[in-house]
Amino acid sequence: MHFEFSEEQLMIRQAARDFAQTELKPGVIERDEHQKFPAEQVKKMGELGFLGMMVPTEYGGSGMDAISYVLVMEELSKIDASASVVVSVNNSLVCYGLEKYGSEEQKQKYLVPLASGQKIGAFCLSEPEAGSDATSQHTTAVDMGDHYLLNGTKNWITNGGTASTYLVIAQTDPSKKHHGINALIVEKGMPGFTVGPKENKLGIRGSDTHSLMFTDVKVPKENRIGEDGFGFKFAMKTLEGGRIGIAAQALGIASGAYELALEYSKQRKAFGKTISDLQAIQFKLADMATQIEAARLLCLKAAWLKDHDQPYAQASSMAKLYASEVAMRTTIEAVQIHGGYGFVKEYHVERLMRDAKITQIYEGTSEIQRIVISREVLK
Ligand SMILES: Cc1cc2nc3c(=O)[nH]c(=O)nc-3n(C[C@H](O)[C@H](O)[C@H](O)COP(=O)(O)OP(=O)(O)OC[C@H]3O[C@@H](n4cnc5c(N)ncnc54)[C@H](O)[C@@H]3O)c2cc1C
Repeated sequence: MHFEFSEEQLMIRQAARDFAQTELKPGVIERDEHQKFPAEQVKKMGELGFLGMMVPTEYGGSGMDAISYVLVMEELSKIDASASVVVSVNNSLVCYGLEKYGSEEQKQKYLVPLASGQKIGAFCLSEPEAGSDATSQHTTAVDMGDHYLLNGTKNWITNGGTASTYLVIAQTDPSKKHHGINALIVEKGMPGFTVGPKENKLGIRGSDTHSLMFTDVKVPKENRIGEDGFGFKFAMKTLEGGRIGIAAQALGIASGAYELALEYSKQRKAFGKTISDLQAIQFKLADMATQIEAARLLCLKAAWLKDHDQPYAQASSMAKLYASEVAMRTTIEAVQIHGGYGFVKEYHVERLMRDAKITQIYEGTSEIQRIVISREVLK
């Protein structure tokens, strides 16, 4: 075991750090305020290879490892979690699923533009009445011979308005329960597919979250991913990797808030000394630093297991559960260390606190992560 990054990993981390400072930081407060999607920034992240990081170069990706992906997600999320969730969804939920389970034709047609950042993808599992209980799909994909007829509504879809390619989970044969679910590739513009209004959210306000409506959408059979009935397994397998991305996003939100609080504590004076001289503040910083380091190691361990083709379901759930809770605790303390200044937008920590909350909810709530982990440990 060694705790050193490779030259390549350090270079990509530095590239992400520089990009976050120069391209994401300017305007991040305004984008949050006006719920503006970071379109230009996403385009540039595509050019830097951040949108298809783990996809082999022959399919338009950067051919990097999951460790590099964690490093990039942490750096981007320190500054702008609305931008980093685009990276997470496109990499882990869309590109990964297509690369691992898609046909060669699907890879050429859909994966290449997604991995090279020319197009953005969305992953559509949740519904108005199916969140944590993802087996209870009400969206139907009726087998019509050469195509599926898709009907239903998906909720809370990240990149919902900006994506071109949507991986949609739907029920084909209810008698087979979750074994009768399929995953279909749906293109924006297919007749009968409409995008609902953008959600007005507490956090990650720049991220583009929409409901999607499907009314008699004809999806060609060749757009089904894997065998008939593979859709639920596809979704669960894809989410295992997705959780590494969200864990790293939570880690970045926590470390971004911690770095701001650390700097602020060295400048702010009270009772004739800097507040970093007060043991109450020092202990907060010590707890933050310790928990962030533990979260980072969990993220890297999950990524390492994935890179080495070892089972990582438990590790990715542990990383997401812990890192998201650390993000919430750390951002609350970062606001506290800033005092009144922490409560206003200019100091960034209030936004990080609002952004942290979503990491405990999407891609499986903290309660669902505990179910996954307890199932694994009780096996
Ligand atoms: C901003 C945002 C972006 C999102 N992006 C996407 C996306 O791109 N694609 C997508 O498919 N979905 C997306 N989601 C949906 C997200 O994954 C769900 O909101 C999440 O899985 C929870 O589902 P729910 O909202 O229906 O809550 P529910 O499942 O109704 O849960 C409500 C509460 O009950 C708890 N609970 C439920 N079941 C259990 C249980 N068995 N044991 C203990 N507690 C339980 C939950 O933990 C939670 O606290 C997004 C959501 C948001 C808010």
